[in-house]
Amino acid sequence: MSSQIDHLLDETRRFPPSDDFAASAVAQPELYQRAGTDREAFWGEQSRDLLHWHKPFTRVLDWSTPPFAKWFDDGELNVAYNCLDRHVEAGNGDRVAILWEGEPGDSRRITYAELTDEVKRVANVLSGFGVGTGDRVAIYLPMIPEAVAAMLAVARLGAVHSVVFGGFSADSLRSRIDDAGAKVVITADGGYRKGRVSALKPAVDQALSDRGDGVQQTVEHVLVVKRGENEVDWTEGRDHWWHDAVPAASAEHEAQAFPAESPLFILYTSGTTGKPKGILHTSGGYLTQAAYTHKNVFDLKPETDVFWCTADIGWVTGHTYVTYGPLANGATQVLYEGTPDAPHPGRWWEIIEKYGVTIFYTAPTAIRSFMKIGRSVPRKFDLSSIRLLGSVGEPINPEAWMWYREVIGGGNAPIVDTWWQTETGAIMVSPLPGITATKPGSAQVPLPGITIDVVDESGEEVGNGNGGLLVITEPWPSMLRGIWGDPERYKETYWDKFEKQGYYFAGDGARLDEDGDLWLLGRVDDVMNVSGHRLSTAEIESSLVAHEATAEAAVVGAADETTGQAVVAFVIIKESYLSAHDAAGLATQLRQWVGEQIGAIARPRDVYIVGELPKTRSGKIMRRLLRDVAEGREVGDTTTLADTAVMSIISAQVK
Ligand code: ATP
Ligand code: MG
Repeated sequence: MSSQIDHLLDETRRFPPSDDFAASAVAQPELYQRAGTDREAFWGEQSRDLLHWHKPFTRVLDWSTPPFAKWFDDGELNVAYNCLDRHVEAGNGDRVAILWEGEPGDSRRITYAELTDEVKRVANVLSGFGVGTGDRVAIYLPMIPEAVAAMLAVARLGAVHSVVFGGFSADSLRSRIDDAGAKVVITADGGYRKGRVSALKPAVDQALSDRGDGVQQTVEHVLVVKRGENEVDWTEGRDHWWHDAVPAASAEHEAQAFPAESPLFILYTSGTTGKPKGILHTSGGYLTQAAYTHKNVFDLKPETDVFWCTADIGWVTGHTYVTYGPLANGATQVLYEGTPDAPHPGRWWEIIEKYGVTIFYTAPTAIRSFMKIGRSVPRKFDLSSIRLLGSVGEPINPEAWMWYREVIGGGNAPIVDTWWQTETGAIMVSPLPGITATKPGSAQVPLPGITIDVVDESGEEVGNGNGGLLVITEPWPSMLRGIWGDPERYKETYWDKFEKQGYYFAGDGARLDEDGDLWLLGRVDDVMNVSGHRLSTAEIESSLVAHEATAEAAVVGAADETTGQAVVAFVIIKESYLSAHDAAGLATQLRQWVGEQIGAIARPRDVYIVGELPKTRSGKIMRRLLRDVAEGREVGDTTTLADTAVMSIISAQVK
């Protein structure tokens, strides 16, 4: 079977950076030249420039036993020292590291000197609990400054953190604690979400309770931040309040140097396509690419910018672009505890106005949810401080991209659409904002130092104008080093498919346009086969979102007697459209629209108007569940769904 993916959508709009932006941009065109001349030397240079190495490395890459890479192998560094102490030592201790905003409206400003002090104390508390090099610590916290401090304190000790999203259940927490064999859990009584306190400590208690399944309990201590002020149960000897233990600990703590390949963290993927995988990242290479991408992709000017990445620290985006990248680069950033719509739908825009955010990084799912409510909400706030916008997590539909540019970016802020994965550790594909003329919906080009290709099933390049499978052709510094405890699954999942070529298989479909720019087409697993044509979900969804009525769309292939598979669409309608139009006949109109826009072959057999779409906790559409609905099957595993009630609502709406 051909792995070509048919191309339907044409996008001709182009947005080059303004002359001013281009002239003052951090990343200039010679970055591509330097990386192109000698890739390994380039990464060595970046790492030496961006990080402090206690012991300099003499070799950049060891790829002698693929797919197990070693980067900067004989060098030694301390990740937390790089994110904290060295900024204080350089005289920037008074710079604000975190502008924190709690959901109820309380706030804190924390300087680099203060954060360094706090992290040293937490490191002393943890070593008092017996945490040492290589030990695992689970972190289950809301978006409060202590979450960042906890990650850095673990890193400072050469230990390994496993952050578990605070919205996950006791069962998910338990399986992650067991998988890692964690010695300590850092949590809070609760945190604010959607206008009320959501408890966390009871889930920890439940996860650590005796379950009679014979699995050895590894957790010895639980450190608890008081945030929600909700009542909690207490296990004497095991549980410790942060506000007792941390201030009492010494603020003297010298950062020790650890080998570059020391494990830094384990993090589970979002679970969009199936059971989450425990991805392992190490220190020197990860931090190099985190700092490099944060600086160049976001055009960071640490003295003047206010950066805000809205991701939760429970996801990789929160690891790389809340904790490690911004702090390694000495940036000032906003951290927000709550949901975008609490207590009012303009909360994010209010925060941008309040702190003068200059660089804003969020996900298409959030952008589309704002499109659904309408532009009148952001229009009430002064967003003129914004000079750069970023997108991550899913393909961004061209119309959502245009809305983001016009309504949030004031029509002139460059947008960087960044493609990457938990596994890649940091951004891999993205425009560079002062160089690339951007195209709505395209992630465009691999970053300098990164090599990407689009190939067919046999690993042959498809060439410009064609679609196929996205691969990474050379190892990169922040690549995953494995799946925790499962080297076989690591090889099988990512490397076996193109073993002969030595390519990393990302699992995503992509197309190269005539200019050689990359368009992400969605998961390879989601590609549909309609009358022998291979169609991607992304293009048909983008066509639906381009209709004035549509806020969000998800498309799946459902078994069909005549065409093999048929396109089935699930669509959310904008509130503004519904208040001004009659929705009767809309499904038919949308079917026709897709037919006219991109061709009869893509016209959905069915269009279902729904109120919600099933999403992972990180906001990605779970198409496999919609496929179950479209084919009339019982709905599959919903444990990583943000809201499990959604599926029964959708099933009812479809009937
Ligand atoms: P799982 O691997 O468990 O199914 P997941 O792949 O959703 O979960 P993540 O690592 O959080 O977990 O997400 C990475 C994926 O997100 C990419 O493989 C890609 O499909 C999608 N993605 C991320 N950024 C972009 C982007 N800018 N454009 C298109 N797709 C993107
Ligand atoms: Mg994935």
